[in-house]
Parts: sequence; structure tokens; C-alpha cells
Amino acid sequence: MKSLMWFRNDLRMDDNPALREACKSSDEVHAIYIYSQNQNKKHNEANCKTEFFIENLKVLESKLSNINIPLNIIHSEGFKDNSEVISNYVKNNSLNKVFWNNQFGIDESERDLSVQNYLKGKNIEFENFDEQVVFAPGTILTGEGKPYSVFTPFKRRWIENFNLDLLDIEFEYTKKNDTKIKSNLNEFDFQFKKNNQVDMSLWPAGEVEALSRLKTYLDKNIFRYAQDRNDPIVDGTSRLSAYLASGIISPKRCILEALKINNFELDAGEKGIVKWIDEIVWREFYKNIMYSFPRVSKGQPFQNYTKNIEWRFDEKEFTAWKEGKTGFPIIDSAMKQMLSEGWMHNRLRMVVAMFFTKNMLHDWRLGEAFFMQNLVDGDFASNNGGWQWSSSTGTDAAPYFRIFNPLTQSKNFDSDGLFIKKHIKELENIDKKEIHDPSSNIRESQNYPKQILDLKQSRLRAIDAFNKAKNN
Ligand SMILES: Cc1cc2nc3c(=O)[nH]c(=O)nc-3n(C[C@H](O)[C@H](O)[C@H](O)COP(=O)(O)OP(=O)(O)OC[C@H]3O[C@@H](n4cnc5c(N)ncnc54)[C@H](O)[C@@H]3O)c2cc1C
Repeated sequence: MKSLMWFRNDLRMDDNPALREACKSSDEVHAIYIYSQNQNKKHNEANCKTEFFIENLKVLESKLSNINIPLNIIHSEGFKDNSEVISNYVKNNSLNKVFWNNQFGIDESERDLSVQNYLKGKNIEFENFDEQVVFAPGTILTGEGKPYSVFTPFKRRWIENFNLDLLDIEFEYTKKNDTKIKSNLNEFDFQFKKNNQVDMSLWPAGEVEALSRLKTYLDKNIFRYAQDRNDPIVDGTSRLSAYLASGIISPKRCILEALKINNFELDAGEKGIVKWIDEIVWREFYKNIMYSFPRVSKGQPFQNYTKNIEWRFDEKEFTAWKEGKTGFPIIDSAMKQMLSEGWMHNRLRMVVAMFFTKNMLHDWRLGEAFFMQNLVDGDFASNNGGWQWSSSTGTDAAPYFRIFNPLTQSKNFDSDGLFIKKHIKELENIDKKEIHDPSSNIRESQNYPKQILDLKQSRLRAIDAFNKAKNN
């Protein structure tokens, strides 16, 4: 049999069920990736994420060529033309079957449905698999058959349903027959213009890098995860999110390797490991929310009443936030981290998003989009989930009256101000006692901006706006 592997958000060979099954069942395997700048733009994909993705395609192409699978990149205007692109490729190369791994976004699901119908109409066989999650979205349900909207019971059910057979992912690839086709990747014009300031050396491409990052993390830092995960200056988290978001590593691989060093226990043993696996399950939880509650993909809040909130908009404040010039060092250093690294520490994502939606009382959708446009790990479900949690519009959301005070967060999680100093050059020589909230003299002498708002008043304004929305 001759098959086509359609790569989408799964740029790896390890634990890639569609590729594995294509290889198992076929003598000859071709691979394609359908590239669309329009689609990337529509989904707010960050320039740094596209750059990362293209580099990963290059690494994948070279790995696949070792087993005689040519990877061809095909230009597309958007999801609408995918059915034709695939069926043309199949026809032109006399292939028998198409394989792919599922994606769960609303646009992706619609595209896949239309591709399936099209292929059926043309009598082209296809088979699809799940690899972005341990349990396919929509399959972890309450006793009444409903989707969960709170994490803890979801996790409980996730653990009840779990068994180690789900992690049976090892597979040795062998060479396929030569297709006599050469990959077009080196000649393909991605029409990519770099316009990000991200230090991409932080994100080397390829699954070998992802697996080695995982190994290094599991060898050491994971054991301190429970203590260190909230401290932005400590390298306490895995920084695997970019690799998970683009499918360079699979969540099953992450969980399997973590379980191997925890006697295969999911909820007992090393605290750090248990907590870390929890986060991978959070990722899966948000994919379930996106899948089971389509409104969140249509710009709607999860909590209906929050539709009534009267968000403010102030261009100057919005720009100050985006550029890291709010006058709140912890907020500004976090935003500068995102602009220079394409990544922001999880604690700071929460602090910054809460500041934006509560103190600034700006619409969470604006912040959500700005994050997507700048994160190398941009992932619709996790980003939407994180923003809706922080703005108290989402599932499991922080109660609206519990608003982080950025100065307290700064003192608690960056007590010596080392993170602030790293990202705000103007404050690098300021004493740790002053750094969280520098005096007017320091601000003036160091050319560091005044605060754009008053914390106390803005907090009350937010609570008032939520109260009004609730009683509307
Ligand atoms: C406002 C906001 C926006 C966010 N946007 C994104 C995003 O676009 N993409 C993204 O991958 N994560 C997002 N997160 C979740 C989290 O901040 C990142 O996954 C995490 O910081 C990535 O760093 P790490 O790989 O070192 O994580 P680790 O702490 O090492 O965790 C391991 C993995 O678990 C997953 N994970 C960790 N925390 C969360 C979480 N809270 N929710 C869902 N999955 C999680 C990630 O895949 C991560 O790589 C967002 C959180 C908030 C509050």
C-alpha cells in the first residue's frame, strides 16, 4: 500500500500514531504539510511561533528522509482548500490512503469534517488518531455524561480512567520503499518575514532537543517543582510548552518519562512529579473546555453573566501594557520577558492578565490576542483558559473580588527583585527594598515611568463593574 501522512500540529516521529500506522501498513509513505500564511494570521499565530514551526519542519524533513519519506510543503490560502490539495496529491501520486492526527479547535474540526466528506466522495480511504492528549476531548465525562467545567473532578476522573496501556508508545521506524520524490522544503517560499525580537536560540528546533529538555528536567529540577514553580527567576519549570504546543513532543511521552521516575504513581510519591503531571492534565482540561463548549472559541466568555461587563478601553494604557511601561515593575518585566523570549513564566501570566482585566478593566479578548501574537508556545485552549481564569470569566475562574495585588505578588515571588532587574535595565541598580515600587525620585532619575493607575481605586472599579454585570 502507498500512503500519505498529513502533518499538522504534530511535527515529530516519536509517539506519532498516524505516522506509525502509515508506516506499519504501507510500503511507501509520502508526507505533506499544508502551509497557509492567511490561516496563521487568522489564528493570531505569533511571528516567533511561525519561525519556530518552520525550523521544526526542516528538522522533521531531514529525519523523515532517513527512512525514505519525502516531506512536501504545499501552499494554501486557508483551511477551505485543504480537501482539494490532499485529494490532488493522492491522485497525482497514486496513493491509497491518508493518515492524520486530530486537532480539536473549532476551525480545525470543521476543516477535518469537510476533508473527510470530500475524501469519502472520491473513494479515498483515510484514518485519524489522537496524539495531543491522553484522552480524546469529550470522553472524560461526569456521571450524567456531561463535560466537566471544574478541574479537580476532571482530574479525578482522568486518574480513574487512566491505565498504563495508554502509554504504550514505543515504536522503531524502518526504511520505507524509495518514492523517488525529493522534498521541496529547501526551495519552498514560506514568505516569512521576521518581525519579532525574540532570542530564538532559547528554542532550538527538533524533537531531539525536546526530548533532551525533558530528560534534563526530569533528571533534576522536577524534584523541586512544587517549591520552585512560582519563582520566575529560578529555572523551575520545564519550558517544554513551545514543544508541546507545536507537537514536537507528545504529552504521553512527558507523562511516561515522569512516571518512570515515580514508580508509575500518578498521585503519590514525589510531590514535584505529581504536581508537574497535574499541569499536563490542565492542558488537557482546557482542550476539553474548548471542545465541549464551542462558545469559548467564538470570543464568548464561559460565564454567561460576564457578557454584561462594561470593559474600558484606553489606548495609552493599552500601549503601556503591551510595551512594558505601566510603571509596575513586575508587570513591565513580565511583558518584556514575553517580547524578548516569546515566553512568560506562568505566575506572571496570571499576574499580568489579572492586572489587565481587573485593574485596567480592559477586555480579556484584547489581552488574549496579544499573547497569541507574541508567544512561541501560543496554544488557543491554554491561552483562552488562562485568560478567562484570570479575568474571572472562565471555568474554575478566580472569584472576581479576589484580585492579585501586583506589588504583593512582586514581593512574594521576586523578593530580591532579580527578575525585575534582569528585564528592566533602568532598574538594575535599584535596591531590593525599593524595586517593587520605586519612589518618584528613582523613577525620574532612572527614566522609569509613573504608574498608569491607582491600585486601590482600580480594584474597587473592577469589583463594581463585576457587581453591576451580575445584577444586570
Ligand atoms: C493568561 C495565561 C495564558 C497562557 N497561555 C498559554 C499558551 O498560550 N500556551 C501554553 O502552552 N500555556 C499557556 N498558559 C499556561 C502556562 O502559563 C504555560 O503552559 C507554562 O507557563 C509553560 O511553561 P513550562 O513549559 O515551563 O511549564 P511547566 O510548568 O513545566 O508545565 C509543563 C507543561 O504543562 C502545561 N501547562 C503548565 N501550566 C499550564 C496551565 N496553567 N494551563 C494549561 N497547561 C499548562 C504546558 O504544556 C507545560 O509545558 C497560559 C496561562 C495563563 C495564565
